[in-house]
Amino acid sequence: MNKPIVTDVIFLRQKADITTENDTNVIRDLEDTLAANRERCVGMAANMIGYKKRTVIVSMGFMNLIMNNPVILSKSGEYETEEGCLSLIGTRKTKRYKEIEVEYKDKNFKQQKQKFSGFPAQIVQHEMDHLEGIII
Ligand SMILES: [Zn+2]
Repeated sequence: MNKPIVTDVIFLRQKADITTENDTNVIRDLEDTLAANRERCVGMAANMIGYKKRTVIVSMGFMNLIMNNPVILSKSGEYETEEGCLSLIGTRKTKRYKEIEVEYKDKNFKQQKQKFSGFPAQIVQHEMDHLEGIII
């Protein structure tokens, strides 16, 4: 289901809870809502559509990547950048890392470990911040 984007910062500042295999509706709604916002959005966290769950979706161009309960294992190459967010107005400065390695459970809850660099790495970091209640 295409869900409305949450802009309430009090809700967005709450830390999300572990996603389980019972939360397939969260995954489906993230896919539908990202598809509906395709031209203005490259990624989304579950709390942006009203679920306090640790799931993010990242557009990788040719496909969308679902990450449940992601954890950053390593990061390198700190830099400063400016980002926007569908839940907020305007852009804000933030610190990111050029390369990260992340452990997560995929759409089928299979454990995965993956390295990201450049723009995809930036999106993953932005969406993972949402899970901690951190907004740029
Ligand atoms: Zn955001």
